[in-house]
Formats: sequence, structure tokens, C-alpha cells
Amino acid sequence: MDLEKRKQKRAITKQQKKEQKVLAKERERHHKEVLRMARDSYKEEKNVDSDAYISLQHIAKIYPNHVQAVYDFNLDIKKHEFIVFVGPSGCGKSTTLRMIAGLEDITAGDLFIDGTYANELPPKDREIGMVFQSYALYPHMTVYGNMAFALRVKNMSREEIDDRIHKAADILEISEYLNRKPAALSGGQCQRVALGRAIVTDAKVFLMDEPLSNLDAKLRVTMRSELVKLHNTLNATTIYVTHDQTEAMTMADRIVVMSKGYVQQIGTPEEIFKTPKNIFVATFIGSPAMNLINVTTKGDDIYLPNGIKISMGKGFKDKVDEFYRTQISSYSSQIKDWKDEYLSRFAEKKLYKSIFKNETVNKTMLFNLISSLDKSTLEIINITDEEVHSLLDINDIDSLEVKLNSILREYLFAKEKEFNPIIEDLLGKLNKLEEQIKKEEKEIILGIRPEHIVESKDKESFKCKITLTELLGSEYFVHLDFPTKELLANIDAVKNIKVGDVMSFSLRNDCIHTFDPITKNRI
Ligand code: ADP
Repeated sequence: MDLEKRKQKRAITKQQKKEQKVLAKERERHHKEVLRMARDSYKEEKNVDSDAYISLQHIAKIYPNHVQAVYDFNLDIKKHEFIVFVGPSGCGKSTTLRMIAGLEDITAGDLFIDGTYANELPPKDREIGMVFQSYALYPHMTVYGNMAFALRVKNMSREEIDDRIHKAADILEISEYLNRKPAALSGGQCQRVALGRAIVTDAKVFLMDEPLSNLDAKLRVTMRSELVKLHNTLNATTIYVTHDQTEAMTMADRIVVMSKGYVQQIGTPEEIFKTPKNIFVATFIGSPAMNLINVTTKGDDIYLPNGIKISMGKGFKDKVDEFYRTQISSYSSQIKDWKDEYLSRFAEKKLYKSIFKNETVNKTMLFNLISSLDKSTLEIINITDEEVHSLLDINDIDSLEVKLNSILREYLFAKEKEFNPIIEDLLGKLNKLEEQIKKEEKEIILGIRPEHIVESKDKESFKCKITLTELLGSEYFVHLDFPTKELLANIDAVKNIKVGDVMSFSLRNDCIHTFDPITKNRI
């Protein structure tokens, strides 16, 4: 490598290091903020206002290395519900589960179990049984010994332990292995023992973290239905973590879809499948994934990139416009909330409080405060020195407060927003949304599941060449050559389909989803 290149490389790594440092600083700053808010909130007395069995309210988790794993998680779980947390690896599912179990501290927010404030409750008092992906059985103990362990620690009588183990073994059909050691069991049997260990504790809640992912595909399918049956027999409340959307769809009463630490949608499998709230949920749930096509709206119609017009029915245009109005108002109100938040934090400061103390304007204090604001930020928000100094002439305390607050709100926002990537994102999107709403013809995203692209020759149909076929017994996955992007269709294998064939397809109108490309939300 020549000298110049080496220099360049060094400069790049230096730059990267600098950026990483800035990012780390930002994270720490944010971490401190969340902790401060949490501290304030812990001063209040905690009462649950829902009749949920487990209630998670504004739960957040920041690890000591400043990685935020969970943001503002809200969920009320009813007694006997089977809840599944699903999302890609690293999205915060296990962290949330471990917070419920008490194995991980809750950074901010409130957890209630059976009406009791449970943030500080020791794990052993939570009446929770946990089952992990690794069975974590003691290899030197028999199945019986493994199941008895936790009960012996609790000093339970021999008879009671024996009774509970035999009952659980019966339900799990492992009675004949009770004297074997784990090494002499298959993966499926080990997992049953792990379940048995949780069942014997008579737990009210079962928390399961990817319990089936070590099993082979066939056994997973069998164990899936067995777990649901077991849940129904025990009548417990279950929270189950998986990255497998099929498990989520087949097992859950309600699914919580997560991505990057945020809850994306909570709903029954049917709701999540039929009305995904955003593009992430739409493409994560359902296999194979939903096709996404960039399209243009014109009145109540949508135009595909191949020029085909699809009538979306009367009222579609109004629906799109209404969507954008609602989004703009939601983004504006989030920005307003940030401004209020910065102002109220500033209003806690001694200098600020002293000005309004005793309802008399302390001019020296006011002058000190204004002088402490930095000139460059005042320029950003377009406030002149005269305007700032005119404050000094206001004698009425109420008008002064209103005026000063309105300046400070803008001032603090202009200053703080640079350090807050969330605000940068909100402002960027708000700008784009405001441009989008003005457009007569809008670029949006159409979503269609492979099974909803059907062979047809109606007036909205279009011809496509087949580029690849995958026969799965009774159905085909066929890849279609389509402008801008290949589409995947799932069609019944009633006739032989070959690569190179040209066929006519249309999109099932009642199954079309539409999404906004800016917010990625469902229109
Ligand atoms: P999932 O269960 O969805 O795969 P996790 O809850 O395990 O996700 O992790 C969420 C995020 O938190 C990831 O970015 C992960 O790297 C991070 N994380 C998990 N455990 C720790 C830890 N003990 N310390 C620091 N970061 C962690």
C-alpha cells in the first residue's frame, strides 16, 4: 500500500473514531435523561389502573454500556393469555422477558404483576416459571432430580414433591424417563423436562425464550401444538419469545411484533396478518414475504409501474389525504412535546425559578439568564437582541412568563435538537410529509401477498414472464418479471408452469395494502 493510501486510511479511521465518540456521548446523554426521568417517576406511589394480570407501562431498558435494548414498551396481558413476542434477533424480546422475570433491572417504566408494583420484586416472589432455549438441565441428576431441585430448595415435603412431579410427568408424557439422566434423552425429551421443571413450581406465569429452536424442524411443529395444548391444560399465562413468525402465528392469542427495541404492532394473528400497521410488520409476518411495489396514485386509482390502472374504489383519494393530514398532525405534536419537555426541564433550573419567585420581576436575574443564552443559537431562531432585551421592559409577571417561555422554547429546541437524532428524524419526515400532501399524484407503496397475485384475464390484469418456478407439491412459487422489481406469486399447481412461460395475472383488489414511503406506515 502506498503512503498516500495509508494516510487516507488513517484519516478515515480517525474520522470514524471521532464519529463513534460523538455517538457514544449522545447515547450517554440520552441514558442520563432516561435515568433522570425514571428517578423522578419512582418518587411517585405506584398504582395500576388496568385490570391486566401483567401490565408493562412505558418500559425501557438501557444496558450499562449505553445500548438501549427496549423503548417505551406498553402491554396489558390478561390472565390465561398466550402472548408471543416476535421479531428479528437483537430486537429486545429476551431483554423484555428477562425484565418481567426479574433477571434484568428495569431502567424506566413500571411493571405490575397481578396488581402489584413489581419493578423491585425479587424473581423468586414473582411466581414465574422460565423455560430457555438451552434446557440447562443438571447433567449429573436424573430427570426426577432435575424436576425436584427447585422444590427441594423451597423445603417442600417429599410427598408434595413426588405428587407434583408425577402429575407434571403425566401431562408431558415423560413418566417413563424419570430415572434417566439428560444424556440419555433426545432434544425433544430434554425440552419436555425443562418444561416439567417450570410446571412443578405451580407458576402462575410461564416465560419461554425460544424453547423450541434447538429442535429439528419436524419436532418443532409437534412441540408447537403440544405447548399450546399444555398452556390450555395448565390455564396459566404464557409469554413466549421467538424469531419465527410461523410459531407466532400458530401459537399466539396475541402477537407483539418488535423491531430495533420498539414495539411495532400488538394484535391477534389475524389482525397482524390482515392489517399490518407498517411495512416492517407487513414483510416480517407471512411467508413468503409480501411483495412491495412503488406505485403512483391518481384520484381514486393506483398506477402500477407497467402502466396498469387499478381502481381502489370511491373514497381512496380522501383516505390517502386524511392519512397524510393525521401523520402531519401527529409529527407536529411530537415536536411540540419535545419543545415542552426541554422547556419544563429548563424551568427546573434555579436561575429560571428565581425570576418568578415572589411574583416580582428580578431584573438582574432576568438579565443574567438572557446573557447566558448563546448568540449563535439566538440567530438560528431569528430573535434579535432588541427583542430579547425588550423583555427587560416588561413589568407584568404573567406577560413576561409567556413571552420568555415562547423565546426559550424555540431557543432550547434549536440548541438541543442537534444532539437528538430522534428530533432530526421527526423534522425530516415532517418536511417530506408536508411536500407529499401537496402533490396531486403521490408516490406510495403497494403491498400484495404472493397468494393474492392470481392468474386472471380481467381488465386490470397484466402479462408477465416467468423467471423461476419452485414447486412445493400442491402449489408453485413463481417469480415474475415485472418492471422495477421481480414479483413472487403463489399459485395452485393445477397445470405445469415452466420458466419462460408468459401468463396473465392480476392483484386481488380486496387484498391490496398501501403504505406511505416516508413513515413506512399503513395508509
Ligand atoms: P432478542 O432477544 O430480540 O434477540 P435481546 O433482548 O437479546 O434481543 O437484545 C437486544 C439488544 O440488547 C441487542 O442489541 C443486544 O446486543 C443488546 N444486549 C443484550 N444483552 C445485553 C447485555 N447484557 N449488555 C449489553 N447489551 C446487551
